[in-house]
Amino acid sequence: MIKARQKTAQQSAEERIKNFFEVALGFSKEQAEKEASRCLQCKTPVCVKGCPVQIDIPVFIKLIKEGKRKEALEKIKEKNNLPAVCGRVCPQEDQCEAVCVLNKKKIPINPVRNTKAIREINKISNGVNIGALERYAADYELVSPLPVRQNRKLLAKVAVVGSGPAGLTCAADLAKMGYAVVLFESLHLPGGVLVYGIPEFRLPKKIVRNEVEYIKSLGVDIKTDTLIGNTYTIEELFNAGFKAIFIAVGAGLPQFLGILGENLNRVYSANEFLTRVNLMRAYKFPEYATPINIGKKVAVIGGGNVALDCARVSLRLENNGLASDSQSHRLGREVVLVYRRTEKEMPGRIEEVENAKQEGVVFKILTQPVKIIGDNKGFVKGLECIKMELGSPDESGRRRPIPVKNSNFILDVDPVRNSQSHKKTNISNGVDTVIVAIGQRPNPLLPKVTSGLKTNEDGTIAVDKNFMTSLSGVFAGGDIITGADTVISAMGAGKKAAVQIDKYIRGQNGK
Ligand code: FAD
Repeated sequence: MIKARQKTAQQSAEERIKNFFEVALGFSKEQAEKEASRCLQCKTPVCVKGCPVQIDIPVFIKLIKEGKRKEALEKIKEKNNLPAVCGRVCPQEDQCEAVCVLNKKKIPINPVRNTKAIREINKISNGVNIGALERYAADYELVSPLPVRQNRKLLAKVAVVGSGPAGLTCAADLAKMGYAVVLFESLHLPGGVLVYGIPEFRLPKKIVRNEVEYIKSLGVDIKTDTLIGNTYTIEELFNAGFKAIFIAVGAGLPQFLGILGENLNRVYSANEFLTRVNLMRAYKFPEYATPINIGKKVAVIGGGNVALDCARVSLRLENNGLASDSQSHRLGREVVLVYRRTEKEMPGRIEEVENAKQEGVVFKILTQPVKIIGDNKGFVKGLECIKMELGSPDESGRRRPIPVKNSNFILDVDPVRNSQSHKKTNISNGVDTVIVAIGQRPNPLLPKVTSGLKTNEDGTIAVDKNFMTSLSGVFAGGDIITGADTVISAMGAGKKAAVQIDKYIRGQNGK
């Protein structure tokens, strides 16, 4: 009989909406070893194929089972430079865990996800909890950092532009090969979306800092506050002696709905909202001097991870960021997620959808905003929407949302809350804050100012199969070539590009 999948402990919903601490608490040693013992050690491990950076999953799991946590981490780090990040935010349910053969066996379902609705929506994974095991191994370094051996061959100078998962991975792999890598980042902190986008309660910034420190210890020189295309051009980097350049500037350009009222006060793009809260620490105002002004009735537009993050952050914000309110406690804020399809089509991770519901986020599905209504001072005071229905599948494979004629209505944010753990409140109706989280587009600056750097119609940088752009010696990877994607696929691109950059430089040197 195959044992049930171990579930990771979590802060309770009542507790966690009062803080920004991590929601998932990770495995204990006992749990990790128990979960590791579920792995069948398949001769042909399909899980490895499901991992974009090809971690030797069965081997690291076996090491955990044998109580060798440090060795397990060493094994992971052969392929993955950001294991503590991936153990927390990778969508393993769509990757390594999705193909685990244990999914085919009839065993009890993970109690965390054992809800009828979710089982109907998805074939829930009973595979080994690889993500939680990766996190368990990676967190070894929180107390005992592994020794690092720098490769000091210094074959040539390579510039990496952008310090998100793609840039960090490429820089680390090139440094391990012996290149002198300088990583340029426009913000004041390295990490990309890992620091400015994903909230503290899903990915503590201490974890990102530790991973960045590891990459620095490999010899990577990180220069922050440097906007390539502005501070230096690509041409200037070549003139400064860099033999190749990897562009990993991500997809950080917000998209808006294009409806009336989007210029009102208290309308935010998800990017601005999350950057203020995560990177600028608005949730610690006034300790950090970056307030954020949100009201008591927040509508978040979208259904992906970004929208879920915005909704959950809004619930947690202690006050509206104004000094006069700094002593006040949570305002009984109501947060509604407005999504034009149904929950089944939501691109957000199932786990995060469940978390958001438990915390009290209200889901308003089959609904599309058509107008944001303002008051005479220019602030949001309401949201007009239209009902939607689903038609035939579109190019994404999901059923297309179609507006229902004459179904316009003003959104009332006071329906019965989803969570049993939160009491219904009696606050009046109008939406007073709107956060638009309907996707991000590739950052346009660098292609715009770099002559000869070709882009595709959607603004992504065009690359060949070797990740080389239209400019010789200039490579690109991550969200800037795919559009908004995942941490691990950006890392996969960074890894592959590092191999191609090495080949290119060796080719130039006649090796
Ligand atoms: P980014 O992480 O965007 O990094 C690009 C970096 O380049 C940034 O630091 C930027 O400041 C810098 N930069 C831009 N232009 C320049 C320039 N000209 N010069 C110098 N630097 C520049 N994925 C998951 O797998 N799991 C999740 O749970 C998840 N949650 C998400 C939540 C949010 C809120 C968001 C926004 C995304 C989430 N994603 C998630 C997606 C994932 O974070 C991205 O796919 C990934 O970060 C892309 O990595 P990247 O390295 O290509 O770009």
